[in-house]
This record gives sequence, C-alpha cells and structure tokens, in this order.
Amino acid sequence: MRLKKDDKVMVIGGKDKGKSGKIKKVIQSKDRVVVEKLNMVKRHTKPGMDQTQGGIIEKEASIHLSNVMLYCEKCAKAVRNGVRKMSDNSNVRYCKQCEELFDK
Ligand SMILES: [Zn+2]
Repeated sequence: MRLKKDDKVMVIGGKDKGKSGKIKKVIQSKDRVVVEKLNMVKRHTKPGMDQTQGGIIEKEASIHLSNVMLYCEKCAKAVRNGVRKMSDNSNVRYCKQCEELFDK
C-alpha cells in the first residue's frame, strides 16, 4: 500500500477533484481510502436501539486509490512519490519534485 493513515492527499478524479484532505482510513483489501470530509454521501438511517434518531447523516465514502495522489505541502500540489531506503533499512517516501520526505 503506497498510502497510509494521516497522509495528506489530493483527489485527482471524480466529483471532489482538486480537493485535499487527510486519510482517515485505508481499506487495503479494496485499494480504497477514506479521506476526511471528502466524497461525502448522504445516508438514510433508521432510529436504532442505541437511541439514535433516524434521519439523514453525511458520511465519507471511500475513494479508489487511483483517484488520489500524495499532496506535497512544499510544492503545494499533488505529486508523484518515490521510495528511498534509509541507512536503518526503513523505506521512506519522498516527493519526486522537491525531494521532501513524507515519512519522518
Ligand atoms: Zn514536493
């Protein structure tokens, strides 16, 4: 998985194209991510036994990985990233544009 929780990403396709946000959840089995406040959908809920009221709630729907890219704060845009092996053997992702590291 090239993206993980708390990464900042930009949407490059679909109705929220051009917006950016933080990854809330990664659904590895489906190659999808849930991004905070993006791709909101309305869901109808029924009053439940847990005392919740029925009604319409807004919730983030997942976005396919092919529709998001890592967002580089330094470049202020969505960028391609590479992976570099560090001396301690850990893999660190970096911005191919400005070389800024995403994992610190
Ligand atoms: Zn950059």
